[in-house]
Formats: sequence, C-alpha cells, structure tokens
Amino acid sequence: MVLGGIALGVASHWDSQPKDQIATADSTAAEPQSGSSLTGTESGDDDLFAETATGAIAPPAELQAPSDDSVIWTQVVGAGDSLSKLLAKAGLDTDVSRDLTAAIGSEFDLRHLKPGHRLTLATSPDGVPRTATLEIAGGTRILARFGATPSVQRLAPDLDSVRRAGEAKIGSSIYAALEGAGIPTRFATDLELILAGTFDLRTALVGGEHIRLLWREHRFGDRVVGEPTIDFAQLDLADGRYEILWPDDESRQTRIFKDGLLVQTFDQPIRGARLSSAFGPRMHPIHGYVRMHSGVDFAAEQGAVVSATQSGTIAFMGERSGYGLLVELEHEGGLSTLYAHLSALNEDLHVGQGVVAGAEIGRAGSTGTSTAPHLHYEIHVDGRPVSPLADTRLHGPENGAPGAAESRLLVDGMQSELDRLLGSRG
Ligand SMILES: [Zn+2]
Repeated sequence: MVLGGIALGVASHWDSQPKDQIATADSTAAEPQSGSSLTGTESGDDDLFAETATGAIAPPAELQAPSDDSVIWTQVVGAGDSLSKLLAKAGLDTDVSRDLTAAIGSEFDLRHLKPGHRLTLATSPDGVPRTATLEIAGGTRILARFGATPSVQRLAPDLDSVRRAGEAKIGSSIYAALEGAGIPTRFATDLELILAGTFDLRTALVGGEHIRLLWREHRFGDRVVGEPTIDFAQLDLADGRYEILWPDDESRQTRIFKDGLLVQTFDQPIRGARLSSAFGPRMHPIHGYVRMHSGVDFAAEQGAVVSATQSGTIAFMGERSGYGLLVELEHEGGLSTLYAHLSALNEDLHVGQGVVAGAEIGRAGSTGTSTAPHLHYEIHVDGRPVSPLADTRLHGPENGAPGAAESRLLVDGMQSELDRLLGSRG
C-alpha cells in the first residue's frame, strides 16, 4: 500500500538513544549489514533489494549496493507498551511519531500489539527516518518506508522449515500418547477436525492403535516460531489403515485414504491452510452459548488469499450481519459456497460473474462477528448448510484434482520419509 501524503521530518532527538534498548548498531562502520545481523532484523534496503530481485528486471546499480549508514534502533515490546510509548523512547518528535503510527496502523491493528513484538527503526546518520519495521507473531513484519516514495507493506516471514517425524501407540487417550512421544498434542485436534466428515476419532479410538506423523517446525533464524504444521498421518484402526495427506504450502487439497485407496478429497479455500474449527454445535467464542457452527474455520493470516473452491457464479459480494465481508458462489446442482470475515473483496469481480476453481475472490480477515483473522467457509445444499468435510458432491478427482495414482505417489513419498526419519532416530 502506498501512503498518500506522509512526509516525515527530522527527528531532532534521534541520536539520544535510551539506555533500556535491547540492541543498538551504529552501522556507520565499513561493514555493511552489521546493523541487521546485530539486531536480528533487516534494514529496509535489504527488503527493497529482495523485492526487486524477484521481478524480471534487474535492479538498478544504486539498489544493488544498499546504503549501509543507517542507524538502527530496536526494542522488544513490553507489557503495557504502546507504539507511541516506544517511539517516545526512541526520541521521536510527536508529529513524526503520529505519522509513523498511522503508517504501521494501516497494515496492522495496533490494539493487537503484544509483548514480544519487536520494533526496529532505521534512520540516516542525521536522524531522518528511513524505515520502521514491526515484527509481529511468527516473524511476520510490517515495514513502513519513508522518503521520496513512502509505502507500507506486510512481509511474510522468511522461515526455514524443519521436517520432523514421530510415532506412538495410543493408550487411554490420543493426547497422552502424542505427549508421551514428544509429538505436539495440537495434532490430535488437527486429526479430529479433518476426519470429522469420515468418522468420529474420539469414539473410534479404543486403545492400542498405532499412529505415525510427519510435521514441519518453522524457524526464523534460530528461533522456533508459530505452530508446527502437520503434513501426514498414518492411523491404524481396527477397520483398516487411514492415511491423511494435508496440503503443502502450494496445494489446496486434503486427501484421506483408507487401505491405500483415496476415499475423500477436500478442496480448501486457502493454500496450505489447516482447519481450526469443525462444523456442528459448539460453544460460541463470543456469545458464550452453544449454537450451530454452520461451516468450518481455517486458521489464516490477515490478508491471506481466499480462492473459490470450485468453479461457479458469484451470487453475493458484500457485507452481511455476523459474516462481515462475504462472498457467496453458486455451483451446479443447488450447491453454494460461502467465504466470510474477509478483509477485502476482489474488486475485479461482480455479482453474476463466473469464476473458476482457484480464482482469488478476496482476502482473509476478521470482519463481522470474529475475534481474530480466520476464514469461515460454508457449503450449502438447496440453501441449507452441510458439513464441508462430509459432502462429496463438490469434491473429488474429477474437479481438476490430481488423480488417485498421483495422490498415492505423494503418500508413498511421505511413508518413505517417515521410515527414513524414524529409522535414523535409532
Ligand atoms: Zn466459523
């Protein structure tokens, strides 16, 4: 997003740096990037370069040699801190501080500022702000640039992912089994949610079942950030072997196999997303009483791309009570899909227009009755909500999904990786 009229003045008290700051780097020395490596954050020039480098055109010479004389100021947000409090600590003038707060606030709701978030300011040696970076949960950064072409953008974390494997024999409960084997217990919920349309995991487990799991841990530098992501599970039940393949970061499909055969395909509206809430009766997170949850929820970052799960026609786009910003698509056979709590709609689309499966219809958000960014997704049959996981009419290999044979190859790959990782563990 480009800021219209932001123009920051010189911060007069800039170089009177407070004593309680976490890290400082006056990178006026010859070492380029010394400020960045010292503070564990990036200067704006790095980002600018990276951004340009992804384009087809080579960056101009002046961008290839980022200026390295920025003065870096970093502080971790503490309890009771506000952005303006932090900026006052940095010695910024009120006017500059206000503009900067507005800039960051345009991409991040500052009421959600939390202890542990990290603010980094970069200025020229004479105190003119160049960039402000707010690092929020999971290594996501809000970067505001100042100067001739001011802008604000949200940068996805540049995470390393480390693959992990584990296995357990289920005794009294799946949670206890996972915990005992050093496997994140949240995967019990992932399993229960994804299997909800196939069988009830809680009642299916009687004890003695064997489970094997593959997951990814995310690291930003040397810190583990965010939640681990489950990729694959093998569950041996009395009635057969279930294998569940969750989508990787690029895919929108979850697949469930029984005894080697593909029995369920679930097309998801967000790439790589994991379910966070099931269809059916539940305690409402805001109203506090039991009510029907008429869809499923996906954990999603604010601004994540939301895609049509199937081709169809746009029946509704706009605000609806409780749902916030909503898109409703109509499909063949009296089916429709709903995508709610969006932060933005795809403005290239209009009611009555056809969209293909995978087309971007909007961005995830937290509009309407919602406590945090997520996507609420519903499937209706003849106007009534059905469980998106159980209804097979919209799903299946005929909808452009990879065929059963290709899916099986992916599962075989996961099984060999499990064998390798569990085997090498000794
Ligand atoms: Zn929901």
